[in-house]
Amino acid sequence: MSNIGVWIENDDSGVKAANFGVMTAAREGGRHTVYGLVFKGDGAACRAAAAQYGAEKVIEIEVDGTDPGLNPELQARAVAAAMKHFELRALLGLSSARGRDLLARVAVALDGSLALDCTGIDLSKGMVTKSHFSGKTTATLKLGGDYLICGLRPNVVPAVEDPVSTEVVPYSAPVEDDGRIKILEVKKGKTGTMDITEADIIITGGRPMDSAENFKILYDCAEVLGGAVGASRAAVDAGFAPHSMQVGQTGKTVSPKLYIGCGLSGSVQHFAGMKTSKVIVGINTDKDAPIFGKCDYGIVGDLFEVVPMLTEVLKEQNR
Ligand code: FAD
Repeated sequence: MSNIGVWIENDDSGVKAANFGVMTAAREGGRHTVYGLVFKGDGAACRAAAAQYGAEKVIEIEVDGTDPGLNPELQARAVAAAMKHFELRALLGLSSARGRDLLARVAVALDGSLALDCTGIDLSKGMVTKSHFSGKTTATLKLGGDYLICGLRPNVVPAVEDPVSTEVVPYSAPVEDDGRIKILEVKKGKTGTMDITEADIIITGGRPMDSAENFKILYDCAEVLGGAVGASRAAVDAGFAPHSMQVGQTGKTVSPKLYIGCGLSGSVQHFAGMKTSKVIVGINTDKDAPIFGKCDYGIVGDLFEVVPMLTEVLKEQNR
């Protein structure tokens, strides 16, 4: 039994659901005691989720009475100090943009082993799995050293509830702001939609979308499904969607429960970013398109007919 830390990532709407799988991985079927790590002000908001997914303590980290805010270096040194203080031998988090940034800095602060974008973890053996060469190979790595820092790809570990009684413990980290980093401004992305890396359901448009306006049918469907909208590189390069929506080798890696590809040929480079999706559906007019050899369900048809029809059926079911 070890003490394992989980950095719980929040956004404006509270605790991100993708954290629950990370807590499940950290608990490893009850073998470890899980400590959720958050910054001052987030403890109460995280407590219920932590209690539901087996984190017995939520450590609310404060830096000398000040808020570490978004300063990643200060946050990392504070997390590293908390890990030493509470004798946590590993730290798990989401391999999101913020997670990658923070976890890498924590690994440096602790001189620990770092593995990001992992698709699995065995804490007892100190081993992680990672997908390499656009998903063509899977590597199993054994990490040495005193501290193991691991970023898990969102949604790769199914969240399993394991209710416990959770206490919020304030911790004042003995670190100081050395002034090297100052956050001058935070600019939010224009889309205002769900981040595809954390979505349970993604509907993606390819080259035949033909314009940014045509993506509306995908947004309408995503809204009913409670999902996010993605795009192929061909659609992004043509200016139909921003790069933040691109899935694939040179875009984002996603692992949703359901991936619906609309007008995608099924290129290797696109699949490199979504092949670990649980269920893949392809919609294509060409019955011989490569995507039909790689998806779980295929619909031969025009996406401009199929998608609105799907949206209507789903709306009907939700009534
Ligand atoms: P296409 O290949 O043009 O396929 C369109 C499909 O839509 C066709 O199969 C067609 O039959 C079908 N279709 C046409 N009209 C309709 C309709 N009305 N309804 C339904 N189906 C229809 N690509 C990525 O996506 N992500 C990446 O990150 C990425 N990285 C790359 C990195 C490198 C180094 C390279 C070389 C390429 C990369 N690519 C990437 C590009 C990739 O090789 C493909 O060119 C691209 O994925 C094709 O996009 P697509 O499937 O949207 O378009």
